[in-house]
Amino acid sequence: MRDDRPVNLRDILRVAPGGRVDLGAIDPAGTPGLPKKAGKEPKVWTRRELESIGTDLASHQERLYAGAKAGHSRRRLLLVLQAMDCGGKDGTTKKVAGTMNPQGLHIVSFGKPSPEELAHDFLWRVRAALPIAGYVGVFNRSHYEDVLVARVHELVAPAVWRERYEKINQFERDLTRNGTTIVKVMLHISFEEQRARIEQRLDDPTKHWKYNPADVDERGYWTEYQEAYQDALTECSTDYAPWYVVPANRKWYRDWAVATLLREAFADLRLTYPEGDFDVAAERRRLAASTSPAKHRVTRR
Ligand code: ATP
Ligand code: MG
Repeated sequence: MRDDRPVNLRDILRVAPGGRVDLGAIDPAGTPGLPKKAGKEPKVWTRRELESIGTDLASHQERLYAGAKAGHSRRRLLLVLQAMDCGGKDGTTKKVAGTMNPQGLHIVSFGKPSPEELAHDFLWRVRAALPIAGYVGVFNRSHYEDVLVARVHELVAPAVWRERYEKINQFERDLTRNGTTIVKVMLHISFEEQRARIEQRLDDPTKHWKYNPADVDERGYWTEYQEAYQDALTECSTDYAPWYVVPANRKWYRDWAVATLLREAFADLRLTYPEGDFDVAAERRRLAASTSPAKHRVTRR
């Protein structure tokens, strides 16, 4: 059997719907699905490959946008990024979403809810942030915070966060039925990698703006967060909106993997450019006849 058969990365990284994910068994420094041809310098190969995947993503995105603009399609794509602090959500957004046309992107970060947001159902602010037809949305954190931080810090009673799994599944089912393709990615880093990244932020004064002393306190809840992630990924990995766990200690693998997952999701949509609703030959004739600027010149009085 050949080593380099094209693999579907989604099959390798997907949390099987109905199964139970064990994050402890997934190596955050691993590179699952990386082809043999990546060779001895996989960083060089993945960086080069990311450029060509990026070109494909931009082309898919343009067709998505064009279809909506022509009124032919209501389709949209939503990338949901979740990770522990320093897990690389910002870097992935920059490197992967950054390959597409900024005009067709809708990037939203979810922080601590405002008093107004807290006065509504937890999905209220998420609904308001969804991409419209033709757009690629990126959620930097998401509605999953409401079963992660909300659970770990007991912001709501257990009965409340438990029933959110089903609410999330219903919400995502409705979205997919209405033309949204959802790609949910957990960037999986190790406790040690997080320490190293926090230290890098401390070492570099130009990174101090990113440093949050509370992140060090949050490390004390690492196990609780991993449990909360395991349950969320297990309960909310569905056929229509599966979760993918991307080992993220190695940034070059992380970016290549997320870009590849997106390209696979786009390819399923088989997006084509909409046909023009005009007669090309007639338009050519009109264009050829429109050669004299003098005729159109505005004469000043
Ligand atoms: P970085 O990784 O670069 O630090 P970040 O995503 O942590 O970026 P911050 O603005 O530092 O961005 O943090 C956002 C904070 O908002 C996180 O601590 C997160 O847990 C919190 N948060 C997000 N959603 C909710 C929610 N629904 N309820 C409570 N807290 C939330
Ligand atoms: Mg933070």
